[in-house]
Amino acid sequence: MLQPPPAEPGMMEEEVDTPALLLDLDAFEANLDAMAALLAPTGAKLRAHAKTHKSAVIARLQLARGAIGQCVQKVGEAEALAWGGVPDILVSNQVVGAAKLARLAALSGIAQVAVCADDAGQVAEIAAAAEAAGVRLPVLVEIDCGASRCGVEPGPAAVALAERIAASPHLRFGGLQSYHGSAQHKRSPGEREAAIAHAAEVTRRTVEQLRQRGLDCPVVGGGGTGTFALEAASGVYTEIQAGSYAFMDADYARNDVPPPFRQSLFVLATVMSRAVPGVAVVDAGHKAVAVDSGLPLVHGRPGLRFASASDEHGKLLVEDGAAPALGEKLRLVPGHCDPTVDRYDWYVGVRKGRVECLWPIAARGLMA
Ligand code: PLP
Ligand code: MN
Repeated sequence: MLQPPPAEPGMMEEEVDTPALLLDLDAFEANLDAMAALLAPTGAKLRAHAKTHKSAVIARLQLARGAIGQCVQKVGEAEALAWGGVPDILVSNQVVGAAKLARLAALSGIAQVAVCADDAGQVAEIAAAAEAAGVRLPVLVEIDCGASRCGVEPGPAAVALAERIAASPHLRFGGLQSYHGSAQHKRSPGEREAAIAHAAEVTRRTVEQLRQRGLDCPVVGGGGTGTFALEAASGVYTEIQAGSYAFMDADYARNDVPPPFRQSLFVLATVMSRAVPGVAVVDAGHKAVAVDSGLPLVHGRPGLRFASASDEHGKLLVEDGAAPALGEKLRLVPGHCDPTVDRYDWYVGVRKGRVECLWPIAARGLMA
């Protein structure tokens, strides 16, 4: 059920009801500008990942600052963006099952939609859905460039799958998907460089082998917030798929040499108990803020440490002299931005302490 917004434009931040998802608009806009400036001198364009923000509003702001489209992970996300006016969407993922594929093919009527595949049987299923809908779907071959999650082997296996796609009258070979997920949070820059050097090299060789078989590779997609500068500089990747850069989180900030973006996303929480000495409890437990990549940090309050999260309680340890007042509102920096966003219906956009806008998170919680 869609919850009513926790605030109204013009309110002060302290008046926002909690727990709420705050977006610091100055920091957010600075992040969009920083990414545009960093990619401008490279050959790569931004196809920002909507798995992070799940919102057509944010997608359109990214497009207005030069992004060429959006990535999504799920058909439900693609629907939310297409219905919200986003014209160019890549499902950077495998979509399996006739019902989902029929929905995806139907979307082709209102937006340019592409999808990934790493299996010949799957290519046949996508072709059947495209034929039934009377559309021609672009399909990218996903290669395993080092993370061992999805993707066929780079080289001949990828070329064989691309040839199958190209041979179908209902499909078009769209290029290669080459995303190295586990490289994003490798702590040292050297480890990230080594992982992406390998990914770029196997991808480059695959593009070359495609060319030898007469197949042009119009798109090579990959790169996240931790490594995008490496993919962009490689000369191999044409599209960068970073998502978290717009918001950032405590886990990305723990990388040695963290990504060059500001924290713009916060969970606003209220101090609801001060009964135990040395402890303050806020109304944001792990139902309000994701803890899969570590506990949140208390923003701007060095004497307060978020020590544990239960369903509805966040327990803070308080250093001498740092105690917050009962009812005080605190900004928490989520450990992981994507699943935190998924818990909320609304972004509360704030600028200089005042609520400016409320944006719906249309694709939140979509399981399909
Ligand atoms: N591309 C793909 C295929 C992904 O799965 C992800 C995240 O998991 C990203 C890009 C974006 O990563 P990040 O939010 O770390 O920038
Ligand atoms: Mn993430």
